[in-house]
Amino acid sequence: MAFELPKLGYAYDALEPHIDARTMEIHHSKHHQGYTNKLNSAIAGTDLEGKSIDAILENLDMNNAGVRNNGGGFYNHSLFWSVMNPEGKGRLSGDLKDAIDAAFGSKEAFEEAFTKAAGTRFGSGWAWLCVHKGGKVEICSTPNQDNPLMPGVGCGGKPILGLDVWEHAYYLNYQNRRPDYISAFFNVINWNEVEKRYAEAK
Ligand code: MN
Repeated sequence: MAFELPKLGYAYDALEPHIDARTMEIHHSKHHQGYTNKLNSAIAGTDLEGKSIDAILENLDMNNAGVRNNGGGFYNHSLFWSVMNPEGKGRLSGDLKDAIDAAFGSKEAFEEAFTKAAGTRFGSGWAWLCVHKGGKVEICSTPNQDNPLMPGVGCGGKPILGLDVWEHAYYLNYQNRRPDYISAFFNVINWNEVEKRYAEAK
């Protein structure tokens, strides 16, 4: 069974004005579709075919560039779409709020640390909020389409929130103003989904 491009849970224009419809459409239907197709090509006829994307990434041979780049791209964007929606704003609560307060001191301090991780990633990559077994959360960043599930990326735990800081994620609307894009992201985080992922992973 080949991997399939996941459908968005909302319309391309649902995240406006924070993320514009044209960017969403190209990002999902062209970029993510491209990673999906190339991942399927890269695993076709190999022993990776039929495995879950989590299993593929957790046991990845990091020298396998086709699976590293496109498996990462497939997974990362699937997570990214799910942790955004127009209604998610401000609903951080429960166990995840407690874990964020314990790790960073407050939601505002978390946003500051996440902004720094996303803003200082040189070139293309991602910023992550990860959870370790036991429930401790951590912020980190990876280059290109790497992610915390992969071995040896120096960024551990299970990712439960991710922000794409490749230029293709924001250039049409924000041009070189990555800080404005990062700031806008906090308006569309689907905290209900992040909390669900936290509960499953901790
Ligand atoms: Mn992207």
